[in-house]
Amino acid sequence: FKLPTIGNEPMYKYTPGSSERKKLLAALEELRAQAPLTVPCVVNGEKITSGQAKAQVMPHEHQTVLCHYHQADEATVQKAIDGALTAKKAWEALPFNDRAAIFLKAADLLAHKYRYKVMAATMLGQGKNIWQAEIDAAAELCDFWRFNCKYAEELYHQQPPMNATGTWNRTEYRPLEGFVYAVSPFNFTAIGGNLVSAPALMGKWPCNVALWKPSDMAVYSNYLVYEILQEAGLPAGVVQFIPGPAPEVTKTVLDSPHFASLHFTGSTFVFRHLWKEIGNRIDTYKSYPRIVGETGGKNFHVLHKSADVTNTVHQTIRAAFEYQGQKCSACSRAYIPQNLWARFKSELVAEVNQITVGSVEEPSNFITPVINKVAFDRIKSYIDAAREASDAEIIAGGECNDEVGYFIQPTVIVTTNLNFKTLKEEIFGPVLTIYVYPTDQFEQILDTIDAGTQYGLTGAIFAADRQAVVTASNRLRNAAGNFYINDKCTGAVVGQQPFGGARGSGTNDKAGSASLLYRFVSARSIKESF
Ligand code: GLU
Repeated sequence: FKLPTIGNEPMYKYTPGSSERKKLLAALEELRAQAPLTVPCVVNGEKITSGQAKAQVMPHEHQTVLCHYHQADEATVQKAIDGALTAKKAWEALPFNDRAAIFLKAADLLAHKYRYKVMAATMLGQGKNIWQAEIDAAAELCDFWRFNCKYAEELYHQQPPMNATGTWNRTEYRPLEGFVYAVSPFNFTAIGGNLVSAPALMGKWPCNVALWKPSDMAVYSNYLVYEILQEAGLPAGVVQFIPGPAPEVTKTVLDSPHFASLHFTGSTFVFRHLWKEIGNRIDTYKSYPRIVGETGGKNFHVLHKSADVTNTVHQTIRAAFEYQGQKCSACSRAYIPQNLWARFKSELVAEVNQITVGSVEEPSNFITPVINKVAFDRIKSYIDAAREASDAEIIAGGECNDEVGYFIQPTVIVTTNLNFKTLKEEIFGPVLTIYVYPTDQFEQILDTIDAGTQYGLTGAIFAADRQAVVTASNRLRNAAGNFYINDKCTGAVVGQQPFGGARGSGTNDKAGSASLLYRFVSARSIKESF
């Protein structure tokens, strides 16, 4: 059987007065009226509400609780591990088409039945405005579920190309032996859906099972995603939903000899820590665990002297400030040639000054809150450092206010110091740092960009001159796993630009691609002679 044709989920526009905007605003109101909700752990299909409860608040109004979620303790995690391993046996009885049907159905349920609900949860819980919620919790999540089915099917159809006379060679795509530990971030509701669906689809018979630990700051939207998977027919135990304190949950998971893979999106620091923890236990595992991670970035835009200034200003603002710069892919450093600087600066400052900051419930707000107090304080400390430095200047924004919600103005810093900390360190907030370089030193600045940070996630070259594009592309080969030409460095689309980077940015296994799925199988080659 062939799967239905897979394409990208169409995006809604939410223009004023449109029916989709009305439905979304109604979903926001309804969710607000229901809050605070209760989120359980779900293990073997059973809702567990005996764990210590913790609150997820609304970042734009931090005195309001969105939900209380019950955290998994050691016994719950152990039960989740045992139950997943048992569920694996039943999961293997389902042929691939039937497993794919569950995820295809989940995508349709999300697109047509739960779109506004999951978007509202993402807006109120993770501080996204309408369009950022649509990109993530509607479009990208549908895309991950549908395209993962397509990529898995393609993989299963691949067979060794040669059979010598009298032999028949086959490849069997076996799952990993054990379970996958999926740790998802706050900044994309869609990523949790990808972290569990990619492994669960893999392994022709049998297939993988996963434990899902969502971020504390995204529990409610992630729980809705989990409920959609259940409604679509995902059998109990195949994915266990276990929010909880990261160190304790992780310790129990990694102590299990059946731990087979980490599928992670989050910070570079945490990923390295987990890798070391896995390394310390390596003698206890049956197989070498597959470690797959997408982590931090310090992503760049570089302009050549031939760049179109107006387009670049616009793209840079979107890349730096959409979702308050809290995308791993966000642009946080820009390199502008001296010949374009005066124009670039005046257009940039004029446009940034028009950006409105405020509640997620007011659709005209481009900037909504950052995720929590820790993020607010961290971002503010970088802005304060720029304010106090003699070799940096804030040319737009800079105000921070956390009285009601965690609001930070889009902020542009210009520095004359190539080693200034906001040019080197990941900030994960609405802060863009600019360095103006001598126009004739394009190649030198490319080398500086390449060597400037520990990361290699995304970057963009803006140039009309084709030779400059080629030079940048060659010189920055490892500086960006997703490299853009005359386009912003955010917004990779599943099925179009597989996403991920190397160096300190991850294992570069590319979310939204077949190569990611390969990580969750342990193939067996079979030769039969007649
Ligand atoms: N894939 C997203 C983008 O291209 C970023 C994902 C992330 O922040 O982890 O913008």
